[in-house]
Amino acid sequence: MHELSIAHNLVGIIEQEMSRHNVNKLIRVKVKFGRISAIVPEALQTAFEVMTRDTLMQGAELEIEEIPLVAACRECRKEFSPEGDLLIMTCPYCSAEFGHEIISGKELYIDELEAE
Ligand SMILES: [Zn+2]
Repeated sequence: MHELSIAHNLVGIIEQEMSRHNVNKLIRVKVKFGRISAIVPEALQTAFEVMTRDTLMQGAELEIEEIPLVAACRECRKEFSPEGDLLIMTCPYCSAEFGHEIISGKELYIDELEAE
């Protein structure tokens, strides 16, 4: 389950941020992720809850927002947002199927962090 290791990293980063800003209670954290990072939000939610139990982050609200996938076609260089199966991403303009460049949708990052 790769959500476990993601939650682990997430908790580590939040801890660092909190001590850097001298805050003691995490209220809310917002994470953005791309479709290609293959995260199951529910699984990440659960992993986060388990890992923050009995810490300063306990009970904090975890918001997870998906970033749409954007690819640039290898043939015509137009940008499009692939739907469905990611193994074959067909360009809607010229029907090229392979070798597109992923411009956005691989990311995973903390977008907002609220603590006191
Ligand atoms: Zn194309």
